[in-house]
Parts: sequence; C-alpha cells; structure tokens
Amino acid sequence: MRGYFNKGNKTFDRAIFLDRDGVLNRDVGHPHLKEQYRPFECMAECMAELSKLDAYIIIITNQSGIATNMYDVNTFKAFNSLIINDVESAGGRINAIYYCPHYDWYNLPDGVERCRCSKPGPGMLEEAASDFELDLGKSIIIGDNYTDIGAGINAGMGKTILVTTGSWYRNGNYREEPLREKYRPDFTFHSLHEATQKVIELFK
Ligand SMILES: [Mg+2]
Ligand SMILES: [Zn+2]
Repeated sequence: MRGYFNKGNKTFDRAIFLDRDGVLNRDVGHPHLKEQYRPFECMAECMAELSKLDAYIIIITNQSGIATNMYDVNTFKAFNSLIINDVESAGGRINAIYYCPHYDWYNLPDGVERCRCSKPGPGMLEEAASDFELDLGKSIIIGDNYTDIGAGINAGMGKTILVTTGSWYRNGNYREEPLREKYRPDFTFHSLHEATQKVIELFK
C-alpha cells in the first residue's frame, strides 16, 4: 500500500529501496511517536547523496503495529513526515513510501493468511515496480533484517545490502536465524553511510 507518493518530474528505470526502521531511524520497537524518532546521524545527508543518483528513492516498511492496533495509519504517516522533512531539508527526496499494515509472517494469528506485501514477500517491490515502471534487476535494496534481503531476492533485485544498525542484528538474532542462510545479502555494512558509498560506486 502506498503511504506517500511524489514521483517528481524525472523518469528513471531503477530505484534504491530502503527499509525504514533500523535503516533510517533507530528501531526502538515499532517506533511511531514523535519522541521515538531517532534518525541515524548520517540519515538526511546520506539520503541527499542518494538523491543525486539517477534512481527513485523508495521506502518499503512492514508496519504490523497497524494490524495489532498499536497505532493507526495516520500516526504512521505523521512519523513518515518527520523523515521526509529531514531529508528534504538536507536537499534530498523520497519518491514513495510503501507499507504493509498486516501481520508479520512469523507472527500470524490462527486463521489469518500470509499477505503478499509483508517482507520477505515481494508484494511492495512489485507494486512499486508497476507504479514506477522499474527494472528491479537494476535496482538495489538496503535493509537491516533478513526480511528485507528476502524481499529483494524474491523480487529479483539487482543487489541487496544489509546494514547492521537494526535491532535484529544487535539482538544477535542474525546469527541464530536459519533464514540467514537462505537470504544472503550481496554486501553487509555497519552504517547507512558505508552502504550509501557502495550504492554510489555501483551506480557509477
Ligand atoms: Mg527494519
Ligand atoms: Zn501485507
């Protein structure tokens, strides 16, 4: 589902997809309130650097807190506005935000089916590819969780980049998670800044 859309007047055939929580801002556990907004130090500047590349900048985020009634869609969108404002103030852009408001695949209540948009499902990437006419094989995804890498692999993304700034990695789940073997990123970095430099290099 689209939570924000601002295609702009330039046309590209590829995109840089970024997960939100744990990549742009600290994942304090379903952040949704203004006081929980803790962007990483380099966030706005990195997004401004990525915005100079010939690619759409698109956020894709699982928001199961909407399914569990922890917060509503408007609260989610208000949180996004904090990010958009910071990025635009630094001279960057965000072309779209797609979100999955459903339950996470690993936490489905009895009788509830998996949706296609929850990462590692490819649904949000496919929706964006259709909206923006993207070649996903030339696109890149940056995430902090195997679900982000999995979505990228399942959608046929050109390159997948893991950053270790999310709670999943910090909590040690990365080492224990069996899906780590299934969903291997092309690159792993310890900051969005390093990931940004790699994307710039790949797009040269
Ligand atoms: Mg994340
Ligand atoms: Zn979904």
